[in-house]
Amino acid sequence: MFNLVKGTHDVILDEAQQYSYIETLLARVAEMYGYSEFRTPVLEYTDLFVRSVGNSSDIVRKEMYTFLDHGDRSITLRPEFTAGIVRSMVNNKLFANQDFPVKGYYCGPNFRYERPQQGRYRQFNQFGVECVGVSSPERDAEIISMGFNSLLMLGFKNVKLSINTLGDEETRKNYQEALRNYFGEKIDCMCEDCKERYKLNVLRILDCKVESDKEIVKNAPKITDFLSEKAKKDFDAILKILDALEIPYEVDSELVRGLDYYTGVVFEFHYTSKLGKNYGAIGAGGHYGHLVKEIGGPDIEGCGYAMGIERLASVMSDDEIQLPIEKGLDVYIMPVALTDYSEILQVAEYLRLNGFKVEVCLEGKGMGQMFKKAERRDAKLALIIGETELKDGVFNVKDIKTQEQITIEKEYLLDFLDKAINQKGHHHHDHDCCCGGECCDDDCDCEHDHHEHDCCCEHHHEE
Ligand code: AMP
Repeated sequence: MFNLVKGTHDVILDEAQQYSYIETLLARVAEMYGYSEFRTPVLEYTDLFVRSVGNSSDIVRKEMYTFLDHGDRSITLRPEFTAGIVRSMVNNKLFANQDFPVKGYYCGPNFRYERPQQGRYRQFNQFGVECVGVSSPERDAEIISMGFNSLLMLGFKNVKLSINTLGDEETRKNYQEALRNYFGEKIDCMCEDCKERYKLNVLRILDCKVESDKEIVKNAPKITDFLSEKAKKDFDAILKILDALEIPYEVDSELVRGLDYYTGVVFEFHYTSKLGKNYGAIGAGGHYGHLVKEIGGPDIEGCGYAMGIERLASVMSDDEIQLPIEKGLDVYIMPVALTDYSEILQVAEYLRLNGFKVEVCLEGKGMGQMFKKAERRDAKLALIIGETELKDGVFNVKDIKTQEQITIEKEYLLDFLDKAINQKGHHHHDHDCCCGGECCDDDCDCEHDHHEHDCCCEHHHEE
């Protein structure tokens, strides 16, 4: 037996299906906002993160998986996406024709050597977006709204949005000075990390999680009192748009985020599950003023956010948010007393190529055992085939639930399955369907409408 590496976890079976669903839905929403997919390497040169995420961040100071490769180059496993995405935009000259903004979404694993705990892993997955080439409050607000609405579409009804601004250069300069004055007298009784933060970037102290330090942080000067005219105007403009879009938020003047590249607006999405568990922020992001230039691109700004897939999945499970995922097999094929399985396998492949989920029992089991297996596999129909059926070109089809059985000629099999599975399953003859409206499909004999956006059967709405 080999143990998992500390802080990593397997994502298998139902959970893997849940992850795929979350990732696919988030990608689809991003595409609705005009974003395209970016897939960048997990391996990047260490310097990229040191320059962008910053020397004073916890990530660079103590959380990166860094090693020398066989050519003595310092390589780091991606601890976050933004730097790599922006690097790829620069390297691939996506800013060359100045067709701004450049909009990308991404999904995949990150690596941080953190203390593993609830909702915190050393390998974790993020989905995120970057919108680069803009510096307007309208764009920032649209991105925040996109994050909020993505969560809504996943079924998260009570997301709390915390928002703050780190202001412009002038704001930060004045604010950092005020913080240095304030913490200057107290730093000797604060944690070792804070002492270092004080030297590297005093703003980081606001992120400290040590209880006694948190008390000191509580009374620190607030950035809201140091905002320059322009910073205040931009932040107010963002809040005004969020009001107009009816997105509830709370201004949290202690929110600074752990990455050095943020300037302007920063935000976090929080959610407490019905079980009362708080997994920390389920998503977070902000505006970055200098990152693109720092990475070798033009002097343009950007804004983005990342969602933690592990945390989204945990909250969805706690809250029993149902996914519209079709489970189980369409057809379970039961060979009866056959010695040659080739024709059976041909039938199975033929049905799969026509879009049905099919398994064949190849273990030579008796009827009773095969029916039990079909039930365990959540199969809708059983196809019972013996020598006689093969010879006569017919199939016995049995509905696993109702136990009704009929014999179908080979040439009508597809039509039959299409009606029995696609039209039944996919068009919701199901009287429990929450949508309750009229069916839009003239050919369909069910009574339900699939245009309804709140409907749990969502993924069939385009039919
Ligand atoms: P960050 O890249 O630190 O801004 O984090 C963005 C989101 O990624 C957070 O809101 C979390 O949902 C998720 N996240 C960050 N670090 C971890 C971790 N160690 N384990 C699981 N999820 C994480």
